Formats: sequence, C-alpha cells, structure tokens
Amino acid sequence: MLIIFDLDDTLIDTSGSITPIQLESALRRMIEEGLPVTSGGGASDMLKRLDRGADSAKSALSEFLEILDVEEKFYPMALEEVYGPIPADLPIFAHENALEVLQELSQHHTLALVTIGKTQQQKYKMEKAGIDSTLFSKIVITEVRDKKPHYESLLEEFGMTPAETIVCGDRIAIDLVPAKELGLKTIHVRQGRGKKAPQHLEREVDFTVTELKQIEEIIKQLC
Ligand SMILES: [Mg+2]
Repeated sequence: MLIIFDLDDTLIDTSGSITPIQLESALRRMIEEGLPVTSGGGASDMLKRLDRGADSAKSALSEFLEILDVEEKFYPMALEEVYGPIPADLPIFAHENALEVLQELSQHHTLALVTIGKTQQQKYKMEKAGIDSTLFSKIVITEVRDKKPHYESLLEEFGMTPAETIVCGDRIAIDLVPAKELGLKTIHVRQGRGKKAPQHLEREVDFTVTELKQIEEIIKQLC
C-alpha cells in the first residue's frame, strides 16, 4: 500500500511543544512594536486559549488581533515569529511510537509525507524529532493549504489505485477530506488539533485512532 502521512500533530507534537513557545515570542515581538497590552498575564492567556480552540496558530492570531481591534501591521509580524525559525534549544518530540511505527510500516509499504509549511522549518522539525526522512519514498512540503493535487501526483508517481492508498492525519478538513474526495482510505489521528474534530467531520473518515500504533493493525486488516 501507499501510506501518506501528515507531519505536524500526526507524527510530531507541534501544537503541544512548539506552537505555545512560538506564540509567546510573537506576542513579545508585537508588544515591542507597540501592541497595547502588558507582557505576560491576560493577553498571553487569551492567545493560548484561542489557540487551543483554533485550527491553526494563524487563525488564533488573527482572532486575537481582531478582539484587540488593533492596527493591521501586527498580524504579519506575528506570523513571521510563529512560522519563523524555531529556537535551537527547543526540544521537539515525535509522538509516542512514531519512529517505530514508521520503521515497521516502511518494511512492507511505500511511505510518503505531505506537510504544509516552510521547507526549512518542516525539515528541521523532522530532524530534531528524530524522524528518519529516508523512510519516506517521497516528501512533499507545500505552503498552500490544499493537499489534493499532491495526493493525486503521488498516486500517479507510485502507480497506486485509490483503494491501495491510505492517508493518516490529525486535521480532517485539511488532511482527510481531500483524500476522501479522491476515493482514498483515511485514518484520523486524534492528536493535537485533531483532538476536537467536529462530529460531522468525524463521520467523513474511515478509521479513527488515538495512538499511532493502532495504524499498524488497520493496515494489516486492509491488506
Ligand atoms: Mg497536522
């Protein structure tokens, strides 16, 4: 089978370990540039709370600045911090069993990765989390939030049918709905931002797992 993974919150703990730190530095930078809030305390708590309910750090920041009703100049500088270089001393963790599951699946299947973000950052996160990029036959990093054309190209490149292809991701709307539209099988990894998927979206997926190890069983069933 061709198994396509998402990276952030599927294989690595992005929203738990990286995003809160990046949001803090975005807030610091905005305060330095004149954002009318005091550092720490209320503003920081509000931003974190918004992030927990948002589908991305980007939408959390946009909501935060809308509530504060401040000049537009703050948004691009905040994005620059959140999606900019990751501090070298920040530890980045793979999700439990991620390395082992990838290793195991790669022995009998073709693995690919489709992730949204900046090339340098995505590669850095993988490396820091200890994810062996050579286990993937193809890694696609895109800044456009549309994975469908990449899924289509992967099927073509590896000569796989939709029935032989499965996509694993935490965000149903972004990772899995486009896969369903192409007739691919889908596994919702209930981690990170994917933990609070709305019920109408939950119905869209073929399988739901709460830990990566369960993926091995599902693949065995399908083969
Ligand atoms: Mg993700």
